[in-house]
Formats: sequence, structure tokens, C-alpha cells
Amino acid sequence: MSDAPFHTNNYRAFRLKVRGRVQGVGFRPFVFRLAHDCHLAGEVCNQPDGVSIFIEGTETDCQKFIRSLREEAPGAAVIKEIVLQESPPENHRVFSIRPSRESDQLIAEVCPDISICDDCLEELNADTRRSGYPFINCTNCGPRFTIIEDFPYDRKHTSMNEFSMCKTCRKEFENPLDRRFHAQPTSCPDCGPAYVFHENGQTETDFSTIIRKLGDQLDEGRVVALKGLGGYHIACGAFNEAAVAELRSFKKRERKPLAVMFRSVDALRKIMPVSIREEQILTSWRKPIVVLSGQPKSTLASGITAGLKSLGAFLPYLPLHHLLFEKLSTDAIVLTSGNESDTPILHDDREALHLFKELSGGTLTNNRRIARRADDSVVRVILNSALLMRRSRGYCPAPVDLNFSVDGILATGAELSNAFCIGSGNQAVFSQHIGDLKNVETYDFFTENIAKFSEIYRFKPRRYACDMHPDYLSTKYALDSGKPCIGIQHHHAHIAAVMAEHGLEEPVIGVAYDGTGYGTDGHTWGSEVMLADYKNFQRISHFEYIPLPGGDRVTDEPWRTALSYLVHSYVGEWDELDIPLLQKLDISRAKKLEEAVRKGINSPLSCSAGRLFDAIAALTGICTESNYHAEAPQLLENYLHDGPVLPYSFLPGKTVSFSPMIREIILDLQRHLPLESIITRFHTTIAEAARLQVKLAAEKQDINKVALSGGSFQNKYLTEKLVHLLKQDGFTVFLPGEVSCNDGGIALGQLAIAAHKMK
Ligand code: ZN
Ligand code: ZN
Ligand code: FE
Repeated sequence: MSDAPFHTNNYRAFRLKVRGRVQGVGFRPFVFRLAHDCHLAGEVCNQPDGVSIFIEGTETDCQKFIRSLREEAPGAAVIKEIVLQESPPENHRVFSIRPSRESDQLIAEVCPDISICDDCLEELNADTRRSGYPFINCTNCGPRFTIIEDFPYDRKHTSMNEFSMCKTCRKEFENPLDRRFHAQPTSCPDCGPAYVFHENGQTETDFSTIIRKLGDQLDEGRVVALKGLGGYHIACGAFNEAAVAELRSFKKRERKPLAVMFRSVDALRKIMPVSIREEQILTSWRKPIVVLSGQPKSTLASGITAGLKSLGAFLPYLPLHHLLFEKLSTDAIVLTSGNESDTPILHDDREALHLFKELSGGTLTNNRRIARRADDSVVRVILNSALLMRRSRGYCPAPVDLNFSVDGILATGAELSNAFCIGSGNQAVFSQHIGDLKNVETYDFFTENIAKFSEIYRFKPRRYACDMHPDYLSTKYALDSGKPCIGIQHHHAHIAAVMAEHGLEEPVIGVAYDGTGYGTDGHTWGSEVMLADYKNFQRISHFEYIPLPGGDRVTDEPWRTALSYLVHSYVGEWDELDIPLLQKLDISRAKKLEEAVRKGINSPLSCSAGRLFDAIAALTGICTESNYHAEAPQLLENYLHDGPVLPYSFLPGKTVSFSPMIREIILDLQRHLPLESIITRFHTTIAEAARLQVKLAAEKQDINKVALSGGSFQNKYLTEKLVHLLKQDGFTVFLPGEVSCNDGGIALGQLAIAAHKMK
């Protein structure tokens, strides 16, 4: 036989450049196996900007390979572009993974953490050397972001660097045909990290004993702390009212709903309806918490949702979770971040052992450091797509690709639900969800995290973008840098974030409905419809300004806002009304507050949509005092029904007045109409008002693209209704998809605007 392979007429060769998230996700081993299956020769290697592939073989085999490349790529891979070029054959005899030392140093993207894959799950339960091993992972799954200390992503730069691979693991790691080829966090019971269980001053290190104990503790109604991927969780049985009460009292969290991890989708379906789309997201490799709408079955402990008709549910994503459910008799456990309310998720072992020693069921730790904290992400399916409410594990630090450069800009985000964003070339890299900066620990997390991101991404901020609010700690941080800094209007940033992720270059009509945002007139905004591009915005319409007696106190006490609306809208003697609010109110106190409203004492003006939702919740007696952020509008959702309804009256225009609606609602309340009818009509009114605001903007400038953003659009009913109306009117509507629609997403808008304004 001659040395040169025999080539038939249809022997072809192609070079493919694949761009996207194709490194650290098992892409090269996948290419290797696919080429084998397709009987192709050639090679694959990492390059700074992606993966380069060369294939040669029969035309049919080449085509089969090219087709399958996209269709069968590993779950966490994101192929953004494939450039295909026919080349002369190079007479490769086999297919190989070409090591490229230099290129390996330049991995383009850090991958988010990936939940355990099916292969590992199978191996976990089979008779292998990793059977029952809680740190099992492979090239396709396992920790990524939460273990990274430095760049590029390889073992010595992760918190796995303390564990040296045993011979067998090393062999797998170096074998291109092994599914652990270059799996940086790979380990086995002989060489990897291990769990330790602490209870009443005793420690247990045998894992099979630990997992049995944990199962017993949970089944017997005790509360345990578990070290997870991005921090500690606290867990208890989800059908046990007393255990849920213990967990709540430990977290000092009275009513804010708790997330529940279910054994399987089938187990979840016994408690809540799950749509096909919701199931897809629940079972995806990201495994976020999905907020499902509907009344959970009464077998679930009522303390979990504390009165809400919705449930945050998720599925096991760590090997530990799967092993635990094997021991548990219950189908569901509460699994919530291990911290006291409002502080960042706890990740330090010593602190954890100290804090959690009060728990009735013990603490599970392990000796792998959590390098980066990350909470569980939270999404809600609206119009069949996932709307992010908290972007963290499984999403962070996947970058958002932009049409323009944002290089060297640091956008510091908002204050509540903070997440910052760094600009690297044409990519915006979001931090994980950080939280409310007013909390000292959270602020420290913010500053440390900026330092860490800067280090990992070799990022040196040359310019800063921040909110216009002078008192936001994120604003002060940016101003203190001494570098060029630009303050960006909150709602402009909300809209620009949607434009940026959808690549919209042309002006849009922006609808930003939320709780609070500093306006250019010094008042609080939050119902803005604007004409916007990346440089400027023109405010076209907003709700009428209402004084908020007590300022910031209104967020915890919606009755204050309701009172202000009453004073403002009602023409008669409001204190003689027979409505639920007044039954719950101390009239003499309310009278004093009325005076403050009328004289404008400590009563800043606000046109926020969020506050209007608060006011309606209080007027109807549904929520006069709120226990956590946005409880009032969430409680309103309990009363929505699907039937057709007419909106209440309101006065549209540059300033939308809802006084007629308030009066009609008062009448309905006095006639004791069902709250379902009142609340559904109220939501319809807001959607109708937004529609007319958009119409007004479109009359000013002929634009048919509408971007929606802001916390109020976490309301499924409102968003679906408004999008439906706008589509009817011929508009194309854009919603946040890759970034959070609440304040967690505005750093992207700040980055985009700063890039255009500071050119
Ligand atoms: Zn795996
Ligand atoms: Zn090993
Ligand atoms: Fe906002």
C-alpha cells in the first residue's frame, strides 16, 4: 500500500472556524468523537477566538459532520458562528486533538457552572470507581465559574489546585477519547475533595454514613445546612410545616417565598402545573429556579409561599442533590441560600460552622473552597421565553455580545439587586447577582468582586458608568474612582440594556415600569415611555406625580402610598369611606400623614408604576404592610383571572392620571365586588395605559420597535397583556432575555450608553 491515502473523486477537505462558547465545555472532545463517527481525518485545536477544525473525507461524511456540529454540540456550548471554507486535502490519516500550548493560554470565555450531565449521573449510579462519588464531573459538566481564581480556566487557576490528580484520573484527563479529557475539575474518591458532616460537636467523614444521616435528618423534620456550588444552602422537608417555620425563624425571613427542590419534574407536577417550556428550562443544564404560577397543592407546607399563588421550583443539579434524594422519602425539600435575609450567600466554612450550629440538623461542609459565590438563578416564563429575575449560577459569567466596543468601561449598576458589568472588547461581562448594596456585607462583596473580575479578566477600567442617583453607593463608588465617569438615567439604562442585547441600532420606543429610579428633574420616576437611542432619550409620557409621605418608608408600608392616592384622587371625605384600607388604618395617624402630603413635608414626588401597584394592594386591603421587596404587587397576582375584562377609566396623555380609576375602584370596593374582578381590571388598565403611552410616542416619531423593561414586567399577566396589545397595534416588541429585567440588568444599559456618549 502506498503512503498517500487513496482519494476518490468525492474526497473533500474543509476548514471550519467555530466562534462562541466552545472552550471549557467539552467541545474539542465532542468534535473528536464526531469526526471519528463520521470516519473523517483531520484535527481540532483551540484558538484565542474559538476552535479551529480541519476535516477530510468523503463529501457525504464531511456534510454529515458539518450538520451534526451544530445539532449535537454539548449542552453548555454556544455556537455563535461557523466559518466554513473548502481547502485542499492535507492527507491526515487520523483525526487528532492538536495541543496548542500558546492558544490554551488564551481561552476566550469562562463558562458558567454546569449541572451534572446524564453520563455522570449514570456513572454515579453504576458500579464504577466513581459510583456514589459526590464530586463526579466530566468535560461536559461540573463547576466552572464558582471555582475559578484566575485566567485562563485550567486546574491550577481553580480551587481544585489543592487536589493533585491520581494516576488514573491523570490518564483520563490526558486521553482525548476519554470523556474527562481536559476536564479541569475532575477527581475521584482517591484524589478529590470530600464532605464532612458536623453535628453537636461531632464530625462524620464516611460519605455513605453522611448521606444516610442527612436523609434521616430531613425526613425527620430537622433543618440542615449544605455546602453547595456557589455558597451554603439551608434545607428542610417541604411538606413539614414546623421545619419550614424553624428555617424561616433562623433566616429571620418572615414571608418572602422559599424555593423548593423537587426530586423530578413528575414529583413537581403533583404539586404545580408545569408547561412544556417551563419543563425545558427546569431540566436545562443551567437548572435555574423557575417561578411557576398557580396555587401549589395544599400538601406542601403553607409557610413556603406565605400566601402567594406561585412557587419557585428547581431540580437537583449537583451529584450531592441526586444522592440525597436517593435516601430521602420526601419528594421535595426547601433549599434556600444560607444566610440571614439580605446578606450575601455564605461561602466561608468557618463562618458557616459558626452560624449554622444553631440549626437542629447539622452542617455539611467540604474541603473545596468556593472561589466565587453564586446564588441560584431565578427565571419566570413569560410569552414562552425565560425572563430572568436573578442572574447568577448557570448564567454568570456568560458575556453578552454587542455590536460595538465597550472596552475598558466599568458600569456599576443600581443599588438594589446590584450586578455590575465590565466591558471587554465587544463583550459585556456581568457579575453574578450581588444584592442590596445598603447592606455592609453586600457592599464589601461588590467591591471585592469588582477587584476579582478585574483580575480574572485582566480588566483595567478607564471609564466608569453609573446611575444618576447621587446617593446610590454604586454611584459613589464610580465617582470615587477619579476616572472619567458618566451618570446615566435609570430608565434610559433599562431600555438601552434591551436594545444592546437585541442589537438594535435604531431608535426605539422604551417602556420602563419599575419601583424607583432617579429622574432628571430630581423626582422619582418609574412609568416612563421614551424615545431612546444609545445617546439620548426623550421622555414622552409618564404617570402623574404623587407625593410619597415618609419617603423610602413607602416601600415597606404601601398604605402610605394608598393614602396619598386617596387624598389626591378622591373628591369627597376619604376618611368616611367604607373600604378595606380604612378598616386597617389608624385614622388619626392617617390624618397627620394627610397633612404632610398636603404640605409636602417629607413627601418626595414619584410617578412610579410599582408604587401604584402598592397603592392598589393597600386600598383593597390585600397588603397594607409589606414584609419583603415587591410583596404587594406579587400578592395582587393572586387575584388575576383569565376572563375578558374592561379597563377602568384614566386620563391618557403626556401625564397619565389614574384618579378616575381610583374613584371607580373605591365604588367597586364599596359595592363589595369580588377582588378578582377589581384586580384584573386594574392590571388591564395599566396595560391599556402603557399602550396609549406608546401610541403617543409613535405619533411623535414613526418608530415601530418597542423595548420593555423594569421590575414591573416580572408580572406575567401585565407583560403578556401589554405585548399582545402592542402587537395588535403593529409594533415589534423586545423584552430582556439574556439579562435580568429588574435593576440587576441595568449595568448593561449603562455600559452601552457610556460607550456611545464617551466616544
Ligand atoms: Zn458529566
Ligand atoms: Zn483520582
Ligand atoms: Fe429599575
